Amino acid sequence: MLMRIGGNDVEGVDARWIDVKNPATGELIDKVPAGSDEDVSRAVEAADAAFDRWAKMPMRDRGMILCQAARIVRERHKDLARVLTLEQGKPLRESVDEVRGYANILEFYAGISARQQGETIRLAHQGDCIVVHQPVGVCGAIIPWNMPVIIMGWKIGPALLAGNTMVLKPASTTPLTDLRLAHILEEAGLPAGVLNLVTGRGEAAGEAIVNRPAIRKLSFTGDCTTGNRIRELAGMHLKDLTLELGGSDPMIVMPDAALDKAVEGALRGRFYNAGQTCTAVKRLYLHEKIAAGFIQKLKERVDSLSVGNGLGSRIDMGPLNSAGQREKISRLVDEIREKDQGTILSGGCALKGTAYEQGFFYRPTLVSNVVPGARMVTDEIFGPVLPIMTVPDLSTAIREANTTRFGLGASVWTKDLATTKRVFDEVKAGIIWVNRHLTVPPEVPFGGLHASGIGRENGQHALDSYTQTKTLFLGW
Ligand code: NDP
Repeated sequence: MLMRIGGNDVEGVDARWIDVKNPATGELIDKVPAGSDEDVSRAVEAADAAFDRWAKMPMRDRGMILCQAARIVRERHKDLARVLTLEQGKPLRESVDEVRGYANILEFYAGISARQQGETIRLAHQGDCIVVHQPVGVCGAIIPWNMPVIIMGWKIGPALLAGNTMVLKPASTTPLTDLRLAHILEEAGLPAGVLNLVTGRGEAAGEAIVNRPAIRKLSFTGDCTTGNRIRELAGMHLKDLTLELGGSDPMIVMPDAALDKAVEGALRGRFYNAGQTCTAVKRLYLHEKIAAGFIQKLKERVDSLSVGNGLGSRIDMGPLNSAGQREKISRLVDEIREKDQGTILSGGCALKGTAYEQGFFYRPTLVSNVVPGARMVTDEIFGPVLPIMTVPDLSTAIREANTTRFGLGASVWTKDLATTKRVFDEVKAGIIWVNRHLTVPPEVPFGGLHASGIGRENGQHALDSYTQTKTLFLGW
């Protein structure tokens, strides 16, 4: 597939290509241009040229276009989900969820498009002020491969509704569904040049987006190291930034919790999308009174998960997205073995057998009694591996929960209001779930503290973040 710039399918100026492969089979699905600095320049020019007309269009009309795109996406959700599974690896059922989730986001923003933005300030003596929200201009977005459709929605929904134009770079391994979604937006009435997709590698097309002074705001989701580099580069241009850099979410289970529900919560929370979700359950803290029974039930469920090609029927978990991701996960688990830092209860290795040979499959893995300070609990584990720790009380659980540099999400499983309040007050995270984990609907602000990033996506917060205020001061 070609890049989408200014309403046209275009090849890269350098005529170099990136292979897109199926992570379940290693087969070539398609190829996309390896976009360069010059391609980003073309995209920025197209976005700049489209800006005035788009910004002047009533917000309600922009919302109607998003709504129409969501309608087409719903009609074609099966085809889109299939492409997503082919390039990303997740089971078809999860791809359908993700595609529908994208439609939900566009509909949410369409739904608030009639709401008046701005305020009036009546001053006692000097006059009155009218504060309006204006679009920022050309925005940039750089997105990862784990949830390429939802994360595209998180960026374009608020940015386009606010009247901005955009240059977006999908991840090199998952550009195909995003390109189709860009076509659908234009089919729904989005003027050419409002959204431009430059395919290419992070160090080339990605950095070119970060370094373009004409891009006034940038939203990035991905790795902490990449995020920090982007922050440094973007700082030189005084670019406004939203950074979603992942997390190491703790899940705390107390003795009064509905335990079967909590087991299912841990299972889905960790193994959905093969564990490649920023808000996945990445550390499980069990109260010692229920730990043994909980671990036994969870192990039974984990051992029963069927792993395979996401296009297959009744598949619970697909492959990891790339060989590199599987290698990272293997290293973390091997380190636990070598340093005797925990007990591997399930999995702990790649899947073997001819059906799995060419794919990046890793067995769903449980590790208990992980020692404090092990890399498995201090780093973000972006794969199907769950470290389990037993704690004597809530205070210890909260203290342990707060030991990483991250602060994206956390959950507590309990029926007790006082426990809920303590966790809400004391655990450092942007969102605290009670008796669930993972869910981030479009109306709920989402983002982290500390190393998990800067700014919020979703909801009115994200819409505001793609605007700047301008004040009319009326001196009577
Ligand atoms: P990256 O941060 O490298 O990639 C995310 C996006 O940034 C991709 O589009 C990538 O392009 C692009 N990119 C890479 N380098 C640069 C750069 N120098 N300037 C601008 N853009 C760049 O993450 P990875 O995909 O390599 O994943 C590594 C780790 O990050 C994972 O193991 C996981 O821990 C974490 N991660 C967290 C996510 C989250 O949602 N929290 C999402 C994805 C990853 P390209 O595809 O060409 O590399």
